[in-house]
Amino acid sequence: MVQQLHVFFFPLMAQGHMLPTLDMAKVFSSRGVKATIITTHLHAPMFNKAIEKSRQLGFDISICVVKFPAAEAGLPEGTESPDQLKSQDMVTNFFLATSLLQETVEQLLQECRPHCLVADFFFPWATDAAAKFGIPRLVFHGSSSFSRSAAEGIGRYKPHKNVSSDSEPFVIPDLPHEIKMTRGQISIHQRQETETEFKKLLVKARDSELTSYGVVVNSFYELEPEYVDYYTKKLGRRAWHVGPFVLCNKEAEDKAERGKKSDIDQQECLKWLDEKTPNSVVYICFGSLSGFTAAQLHEIAKGLEASGQQFIWVVRKCVDEEDSERWFPEGFEERMKEKGLIIKGWAPQLLILEHESIGAFVTHCGWNSILEGVCSGVPMVSWPLFAEQFFNEKLLTDVLRIGIGVGARDWSRFTTSVIKSEALSRALDRIMVGEEAFTIRGRSKALKEMARKAVEEGGSSYCDFNALIKELSTFHNGRKQE
Ligand code: UDP
Repeated sequence: MVQQLHVFFFPLMAQGHMLPTLDMAKVFSSRGVKATIITTHLHAPMFNKAIEKSRQLGFDISICVVKFPAAEAGLPEGTESPDQLKSQDMVTNFFLATSLLQETVEQLLQECRPHCLVADFFFPWATDAAAKFGIPRLVFHGSSSFSRSAAEGIGRYKPHKNVSSDSEPFVIPDLPHEIKMTRGQISIHQRQETETEFKKLLVKARDSELTSYGVVVNSFYELEPEYVDYYTKKLGRRAWHVGPFVLCNKEAEDKAERGKKSDIDQQECLKWLDEKTPNSVVYICFGSLSGFTAAQLHEIAKGLEASGQQFIWVVRKCVDEEDSERWFPEGFEERMKEKGLIIKGWAPQLLILEHESIGAFVTHCGWNSILEGVCSGVPMVSWPLFAEQFFNEKLLTDVLRIGIGVGARDWSRFTTSVIKSEALSRALDRIMVGEEAFTIRGRSKALKEMARKAVEEGGSSYCDFNALIKELSTFHNGRKQE
């Protein structure tokens, strides 16, 4: 009898990592694998709710809750999520706390003896932890092969060292396309010479990618064929491209409340969109972690108004004027009553994006947001902020050519530089009106179809998934016979 595979999934405690891991675990369980998601107390209710339906359908999926060692790492008790971090020091302590989880995870592996551990890129220690029990560890970095290849090119060749200013462009060597960036757009950790704890973590994470069993990628071959080949053949990574995982959410209820409870009634939101014509509304959202200054929020509001477009704008926190909305231009909300819907807090992003009225998505280029835009066939305006978002922008604008940039130049987790309203309204004009907009929309719709086909039976991701399961089974059968 073929033994059922049991896979542990352990995501970083951030929405952009937990949501795709949750979807990945749902995909695995729907294909006959027993899936266990490890998480912490704060996030357990979200996972429990989200897996309820899969469990009712008879899929073998559950969660295992561990204590997040916040206090042990010098963080206030109750800190369990990167959106609670207000400084780089807190970010460092947060990652220290995650590394303190190694012992707990090892105990779980010893007790449950799963066949595989899929652990986040930010948990480099997971490879050794799994190896102690003869369990293969797969890395999940939650990003594309394009951005991993670009980051590797910068790490290896250091092209940013050959330019004289942060704004002088350089080409990332050796990539299949000519990808130009500036020093200001690459991560501070890649730019700076000094050793920091976070930099050390990134080096360890990269090394553990090399020593692990392989990488599971939330992407699909047709989206970035040259980079899947580059990453696997040229860089020699063992990788399985089995996404987009988000497409496992088929019903409205699966799409409505992802991660957090929406701060708008979904019916109200959909009714508002139903009243608009196809492709006529811009959706603006910057993911789960970003916060802007009052000056930047003011410029966004001005840019939206100047563009004349209808919009749904998800406004999260203002970083320098908390509890105040003085940054709205005088009378803005009143004037925009018909044209704009402002969601303060968390939006049902998936439901919104796939509504036919949505004509463009202004995004911070988080990989999940990009995939969600691709799966909805929506052209994008790119406004990257930090992490690997500037690489993702290049994939959108220069390779896939389904996006137009606002001209972001400064990589920063806590950005204070301001993009002017004119840059936003210009980009919106280009993405919404005229021949260029029409061509971009055509390309976006074609990619949407490719994404769907990739996960259907016989599609590239479907087949790569089968290949992965076969390898894992062979690995364990081989071990049993040893
Ligand atoms: N998201 C959402 N509602 C919001 C903001 C974000 O549902 O108001 C979801 C979004 O659909 C995506 C995830 O949160 O799945 C954000 O991940 P991404 O990689 O785009 O960005 P991050 O938050 O990691 O920067």
